[in-house]
Amino acid sequence: MVTTPRLGLLGHWWRLLQRWGRRWRAARGDPTAIPDGLWEHVRQALPWLPAMEPSEELRLRALCAAFLMRKQFSGAHGLRVNDHMALLVAIQACLPLRHRGLSALAWYDDFVGIVLHPADVIAPRRLRDEAGVIHEYDEELAGEAMQGGPILLSWPRVLGHTAHGGVTAPSGAEAVGHNLVIHEFAHAIDMHGKALGQAPDGCPLLPADMLRPDPTAARLRWRAVLHAALDEHRRRVALHERFGAPAPWLDAYGATSPAEFFAVACEAYSVDRARLAVEHPDLTAQLDAFFAHPQRSASQ
Ligand SMILES: [Zn+2]
Repeated sequence: MVTTPRLGLLGHWWRLLQRWGRRWRAARGDPTAIPDGLWEHVRQALPWLPAMEPSEELRLRALCAAFLMRKQFSGAHGLRVNDHMALLVAIQACLPLRHRGLSALAWYDDFVGIVLHPADVIAPRRLRDEAGVIHEYDEELAGEAMQGGPILLSWPRVLGHTAHGGVTAPSGAEAVGHNLVIHEFAHAIDMHGKALGQAPDGCPLLPADMLRPDPTAARLRWRAVLHAALDEHRRRVALHERFGAPAPWLDAYGATSPAEFFAVACEAYSVDRARLAVEHPDLTAQLDAFFAHPQRSASQ
């Protein structure tokens, strides 16, 4: 245990300066703003993280430092959020952005709050049916990303995906790229820059390097690749459900809409890019370009 000598007023100011120094470094994406011990501890709690070169891991750590400075974590219903919990979320949220660097954190600029719930999130719903009757009910969710934030996450579900390595199905038989944190943050990326009330559609704002030379053609290409992969996924889900064909590797929930397909694809891409490339090569190449993966030229 480390003991701190009593330094009176001077010690107080020193600690304040240390804290502000750390904050200043964190805001500028200095990876050392996250203490070594904390980083290693949380890093080891995520054994499924892809193998990374030291420089790549340093970039991820820098992103996490800046991310933690920009976001506010809180716990619902008395859940106390500590540094370990916040960093566990930060690493997963920043993982897809690590090749793009600090500028990609702008994709998360539309919200500040991240709320961890001690159980599944209960979201009140209000729906008007075709007859005009209003139905009010509660929906249980693992997480939710709302336009303008906050992002809500069920902490047991976050831990569940951590404990299962994020890649192993409960049966243990087949690798599945589930990851709740990446899923919800992918929705945030999808919603970034959209007009208020405009629903996510799996077509996020494209980075400038993807828009050259023709922005309209680039957006059309994105949509075409996404929808072609979604159609194929829906076909595989239907074959499984109706005719007993093997279940698709990608989460069947992705078949429900283009927005969910994008979120599910981002989960799988971040957790097991190689497997997604086998299942959906064109979509993987598109995500490579979006997330600036260094191998993208080889896969396109
Ligand atoms: Zn979703």
